[in-house]
Amino acid sequence: MSGSGEPRALRFAIIGAGMAGILSAIKLTEAGLTDFTIYEKGDRFGGTWRENTYPGLACDVPSHLYSYSFALTPEWSHQFSPGPEIQRYFERVAREYDLERRVRFDDEVKRCEFVDGRWQLETAAGHRDEVDVVIAATGVLHHPRFPDIEGIDDFAGAWFHSSRWDHDVELEGARIGIIGTGSTAVQMVGALVDQVAHLSLFQRTAQWVLPQVNPTISDEQKEAYRDEPEQLAELHSSLSQAFGVFANAVVDAESPEMQWIEAACRTNLEENVADPELRERLRPEYRAACKRLIISPNFYDAIQAPNAELVTEAIERIVPEGVRTKDGELHELDVLVLATGFHADAFMRPMEVIGRDGLTLEQEWAERPNAYLSISIPDFPNFFMLNGPNGPVGNFSLIEVAELQFEYVMQLIERLRSGKCREVAATRSAMEKFEAARVEAAKKTVWVTGCRSWYLDDRGIPATWPWPFDRFRAEMQAPKPEAFEYR
Ligand code: NAP
Repeated sequence: MSGSGEPRALRFAIIGAGMAGILSAIKLTEAGLTDFTIYEKGDRFGGTWRENTYPGLACDVPSHLYSYSFALTPEWSHQFSPGPEIQRYFERVAREYDLERRVRFDDEVKRCEFVDGRWQLETAAGHRDEVDVVIAATGVLHHPRFPDIEGIDDFAGAWFHSSRWDHDVELEGARIGIIGTGSTAVQMVGALVDQVAHLSLFQRTAQWVLPQVNPTISDEQKEAYRDEPEQLAELHSSLSQAFGVFANAVVDAESPEMQWIEAACRTNLEENVADPELRERLRPEYRAACKRLIISPNFYDAIQAPNAELVTEAIERIVPEGVRTKDGELHELDVLVLATGFHADAFMRPMEVIGRDGLTLEQEWAERPNAYLSISIPDFPNFFMLNGPNGPVGNFSLIEVAELQFEYVMQLIERLRSGKCREVAATRSAMEKFEAARVEAAKKTVWVTGCRSWYLDDRGIPATWPWPFDRFRAEMQAPKPEAFEYR
């Protein structure tokens, strides 16, 4: 089967109504490709910002950067705005682009099979669809990881994962325990310590913390942005450049920028934790940014509050009254939060995806998830991922990543629309070459300098983009013709 040369009407399925799904729907509409449905397992737009509602939720990417470049807003309340405000932003953008009528909420795509040049979809509700192109905008961190600690079901109080916050649970006056010290736990500790009677933070591994100031955006400033929207565009672009510095630092562990980040973290610890014993327990034994760097305005203050306790003794088991540590001590609790992270290698799974000749995604990803440039999988034609495996992650804007990826995907879609071809997928050799170069480059990154993190795959290789962000930008300019098979 090959392209007829005649323009074609294409039908699309966008899977996920989070940041990348909303983006895809808007961009397809702008390109005049209006025959699409968005499938969403949840009941609202927003993705990660819909699922995470824990106290203290915020984005540590500045709000004027963590915005769509085509929907900048003068209304952000803070330099780093809180989670509910970000959720409202996505819902507002979706409303403004009239996407509500294009989405099937509460309907998870269960199965997706490539049959005779088209994708046949089946949802949990039994709905069927047949489309030419699938855009998987399913997010990265959405399957909670529960810790392998015994006894959780015995706990007599309320317990839940950080991404499944139970807002019916009374926190006022409660003794709360938090397991984990990632970005999530750190944000939570700062928000909860003044509210609860006692807070125990169970730390398995200490974290480096980069200090953060988070000023409110004044009314005058918002007014100025409203009057001169070009100021917003300039700010977006300058923040993007500034974040590029961070992205470059993490991929070169010996860079001066990395040394600056390490020094800033060390100074933060030295100057802001008074008790030398506590300071040593908070001092990591690995390099800053080896794990995903924590950025916080208040973590050290919060953990030094009189009602806060840092528990560094390993957990023995969970018992009805609380958490028992290996030294035999019982930490009595009313509420226990598991801020223990996510399965970062699931992507669109558990969805069943079947490509050419019956090849399943489970078979294709039997070792681990892989894709050419994190976007296209050989033998899965006309199936494109945004924020897929081994893409840029880290302390910068995944919105910018998704926008660049979508522009790239759009160029492949144009070939389908123009009738130049009917099927497009990366070649296996392009993916293998890309993967070999990626694995080699990863050896220079700070992520492999001696820590455990969700970035590392089963081989200890970071499942991320290991080059400077400019290289990503350049790569996303246009698909290399030889990297794709067009039928
Ligand atoms: P995470 O970074 O994966 O952290 C999980 C924490 O749980 C770690 O401290 C880990 O300890 C601990 N843990 C896991 N299993 C454990 C066990 N059995 N016993 C004791 N401790 C255990 O998860 P997260 O904090 O939810 O963050 C995930 C990612 O979400 C972040 O890296 C970031 O990309 C994103 N995020 C972003 C923001 C933002 O502001 N942009 C905010 C929140 C989250 P070890 O370190 O010892 O493994």
